[in-house]
Amino acid sequence: MARHTDPVCKLCRREGMKLFLKGDRCYSVKCAVEKRNYPPGEHGQRRSKPTEYAQQLREKQKMKRIYGVQETQFRTYFQKAEHQKGVTGENLVRLLEQRLDNVVHRLGFAASRAQARVLIGQGHFQVNGRRATVPSLLLKAGDAVEVAPRSRELVAIAGALEGAKKRRVPSWLEMDAANLKGVLRTLPSKDELAIPVQEQLVVALYSK
Ligand code: SF4
Repeated sequence: MARHTDPVCKLCRREGMKLFLKGDRCYSVKCAVEKRNYPPGEHGQRRSKPTEYAQQLREKQKMKRIYGVQETQFRTYFQKAEHQKGVTGENLVRLLEQRLDNVVHRLGFAASRAQARVLIGQGHFQVNGRRATVPSLLLKAGDAVEVAPRSRELVAIAGALEGAKKRRVPSWLEMDAANLKGVLRTLPSKDELAIPVQEQLVVALYSK
């Protein structure tokens, strides 16, 4: 599947909710959902009752868009989640939360997951003391993520940390702001996997 190239705010408007894809702008009055909370396009303001399939599809799209994952990769996560013990939907969200780009964003080193992917690709982070350049790297409990020594003065990271003061670092992560370092204390529990997606509908869609 081709990468989405339209303005990302259209993705939020399509889903009818904030997906927080643009960092600081998402918390401001400039947010497109605040200004025009209806789907983009000529027929955006038409209302029709969605079918069960359409609801499942929308939930899947939301989850993919929040984490910035393409269809093929998303299916791979789903298959992995299915083979793990426990509830597949929760396993799926947990796997997505374990991604390095998500953890970098959650710790506040990047304003959005998209920015995290760029910064990681440019080599600005280390995992357990070693340079990590793959945003999809899945972290385990105990893994430490830190800003690489040569990147400690980077304006983009400083700006992201300032903006992140509006957000809370989740309890399954531990942030050492003085040393620009975070640790994945433990994998997130069910209660800590709070994203605005009904993951059971995503499971239903893929289980057909
Ligand atoms: Fe979505 Fe953020 Fe754009 Fe608002 S500003 S529509 S939350 S990406």
